[in-house]
Amino acid sequence: AKERGKSTYQIYNADMKSVSLKKLTLENELRRALAQQEFLLYYQPQMEIETGQIVGIEALIRWHHPERGMVPPKDFIPFAEESGLIGPIGDWVLYEACRQNKAWQEEGYLHVPISVNLSSRQFLKHDLKTRIADVLTETGLDAQYLELEITESMTMDVDHATSCLLDLKRLGVHVSIDDFGTGYSSLYYLKKFPIDKLKIDQSFVRDIMTDPNDAAIVATIISMTRHLNLKVIAEGVETVEQLQFLHQNRCNEVQGYWFSPPVAAQRMEELLQRHSQA
Ligand code: C2E
Ligand code: CA
Ligand code: CA
Ligand code: CA
Repeated sequence: AKERGKSTYQIYNADMKSVSLKKLTLENELRRALAQQEFLLYYQPQMEIETGQIVGIEALIRWHHPERGMVPPKDFIPFAEESGLIGPIGDWVLYEACRQNKAWQEEGYLHVPISVNLSSRQFLKHDLKTRIADVLTETGLDAQYLELEITESMTMDVDHATSCLLDLKRLGVHVSIDDFGTGYSSLYYLKKFPIDKLKIDQSFVRDIMTDPNDAAIVATIISMTRHLNLKVIAEGVETVEQLQFLHQNRCNEVQGYWFSPPVAAQRMEELLQRHSQA
């Protein structure tokens, strides 16, 4: 009987390693994380090169796991999307980002937009506009201080994406295209979509000083945004040389480790104090 028990256990153990059981565990853990408030937001400032002022803040989710410590989004967001848990998680992020931004405004910090990353599932859901309107009402944040980041892959169904974007724009929120250049991009739709800003992906910015192709791509995206009347920000800016290149090529805004990594709310307040003129 003992032998039998052992082999059953071994089979069970082997099964535990199977993808579906792992997923079940992660799903339960994410539900617990929501209930126990294990998620938190980090904040990364966006800087205007000319003035050194903070002109925006991106909210980035973190999972403070009781045993594993701080879990980065890449280790759970894709699964949350797959399992549908991105719904409640995304709602929490939206609410928390708006609540925090409103709190900062009431504490007297300079008013800047807060950017929230949307997953494709959130973007394509029919009630997104209502949810965002509700969150703005509940938190009291003015719509102009919320920016939504979507990716190119979400805009492949052009008609649907256009109507989603128009809905959002009617609320008064800003919309930016994240990771620009890495997805399926059609320049034609760029001018049709009611978007405000392009975020140049960090994979292009990383090698601008060494790879002439990347330098050309980045310079071209910047000049294109000027002609299309879009704002532009470069992501993943880590060195002063990259900063200078971007400035010379008339990119006005940067985000990256050079200025600050994503930080907890309290540290963000110190940065706001130091880098904003109300
Ligand atoms: P993202 O939206 O492209 O966010 C930028 C990522 O680059 C962040 O990673 C940030 O920490 C990192 N980063 C910022 N500056 C630099 C730099 O100078 N150099 C380098 N190498 N990296 C830099 P993070 O926070 O780990 O987030 C990864 C991705 O997870 C995000 O990429 C976004 O796609 C997703 N994500 C984060 N928060 C959320 C969320 O609340 N909802 C959804 N749906 N996705 C999220
Ligand atoms: Ca983003
Ligand atoms: Ca990005
Ligand atoms: Ca505070």
